[in-house]
Amino acid sequence: MVSTARAPGKGRKSEVARYQMYIDGKFVDAAGGKTFDVYDPATEGVIATCPAGEAEDVDRAVQAAVRAFYGGWRSVSAQERGRVLFRLAERVRARRAELAELETINSGKPIVESEYDMDDTATCFEYYGGLATKINGEVLPVPADAIAMAMREPVGIAGQIIPWNYPLMMAAWKIAPALAAGCTVVLKPAEQTPLSILKLAEDFEAVGLPPGVVNVVTGDGPGAGAPLVAHPKVRKIAFTGSAEVGKLIMRSAADQLKRVSLELGGKSPNIFFSDADFENAVDGALFGTFINQGEVCSAGSRVLVQQDIYKKFVDAAAAKAKTIRLGPGVDRETKMGPLVSAEQRDRVASYLKVGRGEAKVAAGGGTPKEFDTGWYVEPTIFYDVDNGARIAQEEIFGPVMSVIPFRDEAEAIRIANESPYGLAAAVWTRDIFKAFRVVKSLEAGIVWVNHMQPTFVEAPWGGYKMSGFGRELGHWGVEEYLETKQVFINLDEKPIGWY
Ligand code: ADP
Ligand code: MG
Repeated sequence: MVSTARAPGKGRKSEVARYQMYIDGKFVDAAGGKTFDVYDPATEGVIATCPAGEAEDVDRAVQAAVRAFYGGWRSVSAQERGRVLFRLAERVRARRAELAELETINSGKPIVESEYDMDDTATCFEYYGGLATKINGEVLPVPADAIAMAMREPVGIAGQIIPWNYPLMMAAWKIAPALAAGCTVVLKPAEQTPLSILKLAEDFEAVGLPPGVVNVVTGDGPGAGAPLVAHPKVRKIAFTGSAEVGKLIMRSAADQLKRVSLELGGKSPNIFFSDADFENAVDGALFGTFINQGEVCSAGSRVLVQQDIYKKFVDAAAAKAKTIRLGPGVDRETKMGPLVSAEQRDRVASYLKVGRGEAKVAAGGGTPKEFDTGWYVEPTIFYDVDNGARIAQEEIFGPVMSVIPFRDEAEAIRIANESPYGLAAAVWTRDIFKAFRVVKSLEAGIVWVNHMQPTFVEAPWGGYKMSGFGRELGHWGVEEYLETKQVFINLDEKPIGWY
C-alpha cells in the first residue's frame, strides 16, 4: 500500500516511496495517472511520489463523503464519534516516533519540534473526542404555549485545505472538529508535505472511520484545491494558507454561498518594554520569530523594542541568533532546519535582498555557505526597520526578524496596529497595568503576555483583519462545522384561529 519514506543520506541513493491518496476507504492513484514528487528539504532529494489529484478525483472523494454523510455518519452517536477520535489519538501516540521522523524528513523541521507536533496532534483528536458529546442545543423561553429549541446539526461535507508548515497538526485541527460535529471530510494537504496524513490514513479503517468519512486528495492548489472549493456538494471550506489564496477561495465560494473560514498570514508584533525581564525578552524574541524556521503564521516577526533598551537588545538578540545551530532536522542537535522547498527558500532570499536595502543587518542576512545541499536560510535580524518597509508589512514566512524602535506605549500600540494583518501579538513588561492596557488596544486574535507562541487546543485560534475570520480550536472550532436549526413545537391545541 504505502511504503516508508527514507531520507537519502548524502551520497546515498534515494529510495523513492510511491504514495497513494485515500478516497472512499481505499488507497488509490489519480484518475489521470499523474504524480508529483515530494522532497526532503535537507537533501533536496525526491523521497516519494504522490498522485496529482484533479477535478475528477476531487469529485470521487466528494461523492464518497456525500454517501458517508447521508449513509450514516451524521447519525452515528456522538459517543461513537468521540471514541473514533480517541482511537485516532492513540494511533498518533503509538506511532509518534515514526510519524515525527517522516514529518521532519518531509518538512525540514527539527525532530524535537516534530515530536511536540505529534503530541499536539494527538491532544487535538482527544479534545474533540471529548467535545463530541458536549454539543448541546438550547431550549428557549419564547412567550407561547410551546417548546422552542435551537438544535445543532452538522453542516455536511467539509472541504479542508491546509498548508505545509505543521502538516499533520493542521490536518488534526481541521479533521477533528469536523468529525466531532458529524461532518464528513475531503482534505487536501499541501503538495509539499502530504506524507504524514497519508501515513495516518493507514489507520482510519482500524479506528472505526467508515469509508468516505475522511478522504485525503493529494495535488496542487489549482489542480485539486480549486475544484474542491468549487464543488457544489461541499458546504463548507476551511482554509489555512496565504492571504492571496484566501481571497481566491472566498471569491470562488461566493458562487454557492458556501461557508468559509480562513486562517491566513500575519506580521505579528512582539512588543518589548524596557521594564521586561531582559534575558526572557531576548529569548522570547528569538523563539517568537525563529521557531519552525519562522514558517509560522503567528511568527512574531515585527519586534518592537523600547528605545532605552533598543541597542542592547539588538546586540544580545544578534549574538544569540548567530549561535543557532542549523542542520538537517533528523539531527537531534539541530535547532533550525532547512525551509520546506526551493521555492520558499527563494522567496525568503528575495526578502533578504529587499531587507538589506531597507534596513541594517544585525545577524544573518543570506543563505549559509556551509551546506552542499538543503534549502537553508540564516536566522536573520534586521534592525532600524521602518514599520512602513516591506520587511515590516509583508509576511515573509522564514527566519527573518524586523526590529523597530519605539518611544512610549502609545507609539508601540500605533505601530503594532499599523499592519494589514491581525493574527497574533505579544507584549513583554512587568507592569500589569501597562500589559492589560496594551492587550486591550491590540487588534489581534491572539495576544500573549510575557511569552510568544504557546498554543493550546482549548483556546481559540484565528485572526482579525486580513488574517482571516472564523476561529479554530476550543469550542469555537466545532462551531465552524455546525448549523443551527430553530425548532418550534406547538402545545396549544387551537393555535391559530385567525381566519
Ligand atoms: P504557499 O504559497 O506558501 O504554499 P498557499 O496559500 O499557496 O501557500 O498554499 C496553502 C494551501 O492552499 C496548499 O494546500 C495549496 O495547495 C492550496 N492552494 C493553493 N492555491 C490554491 C487555489 N487556487 N485553490 C485552492 N487551494 C489552493
Ligand atoms: Mg501559493
